[in-house]
Amino acid sequence: MEISYLQALADPAVFPVVCGLLGLMVGSFLNVVIYRLPLMMERDWQCQCAELRGEEAPQSETISLVAPRSRCPACGHAISALENIPIVSWLFLRGKCSACHAAISVRYPLVEALTGLLSAFAAVHFGFGWSALGAILLIWSLIALTFIDFDTTYLPDAITLPLLWCGLLFNLGNTYVDLSSAVIGAMAGYLALWLVYWGFKLITGKEGMGYGDFKLLAALGAWLGWQKLPLIVLLSSTVGAIVGILLIVLAKHGRQVPIPFGPYLATAGMISFFWGDQLAQYYEILI
Ligand SMILES: [Zn+2]
Repeated sequence: MEISYLQALADPAVFPVVCGLLGLMVGSFLNVVIYRLPLMMERDWQCQCAELRGEEAPQSETISLVAPRSRCPACGHAISALENIPIVSWLFLRGKCSACHAAISVRYPLVEALTGLLSAFAAVHFGFGWSALGAILLIWSLIALTFIDFDTTYLPDAITLPLLWCGLLFNLGNTYVDLSSAVIGAMAGYLALWLVYWGFKLITGKEGMGYGDFKLLAALGAWLGWQKLPLIVLLSSTVGAIVGILLIVLAKHGRQVPIPFGPYLATAGMISFFWGDQLAQYYEILI
C-alpha cells in the first residue's frame, strides 16, 4: 500500500503539485519564523544581559515558533484556522483583519506564493528524489533569511549554521557537487567575505557587512561547491551595488544606514543553484 502511495507521489504530474501545496503551507509558517525569530533572539539577549548584570530576567510572555497563536497586531484578535489558509484567506478577507479591519500586509500572501512557486519549480527541475527535497529545504531557508535580514539586518545562526551542515550532508552522497568541492566551498565562502570585511575595515575603519553574511556564503559554498562562489559574489555585488546606489540617489537611505547584503547573497545563491552552469558558460565567453 505504502509503495503505491510513493509511486503516485513520484508521478511527474503529481509531485510538483504536492510540493507546491506543501510550499504554500510552509510559506505561511515562514511568515511566523520571519516575524518571531528576531523577537525570540532579542528576548534571549535581554535575558542574558540581565543575568550578566545580576538582575532578574525581564518578565514577558514567552513566545516560540508554535505558541501562542498568531494574532492581529492591531487588535489582538486570535487568527482562526479558517483565516490562516495560505493566500485564500488574505484574498477572502481582502487584506483586512476580520475583527478590526486593520490592513494585513500584502507581504504575507506574497511570501506564501513565492514559497509555493519555488517549491513546485524545484520539483519540476529535479524530479522526484533527494535532490528535489534538498533544493526545497534550501529554498525555504533562503526565503526566511532574505526577509529576516531585510527587516532586521540579522542573519540568525539558527538558520545559517544548520543550512551549512545540511549542504555538506546532501553532498556526502554527491547530490549536487562532490564532497570535497562542498567542504572547500564552505571554507572558502566564509574566508572570502571575512577577508573583504577586514580589508574594508582596515582601509575605511567601518564595518561593511556582518558575520552572518560570511556564514551564509559558507552555507552556499557547502551546497553549490567552491566553483560557484565567484559567480554568487559577482551576481550579488552587482545587484547590491545597483540597488544601493538607487537607494542613496533616491535619498531614502543615508550613506550610513546599513543596507543588508543577505537578500542579495540569497538571491544570487538561488539563481546560481538552478542556472549556475548556464551562466558560467556566458561568463566564460565574456572573459
Ligand atoms: Zn484586528
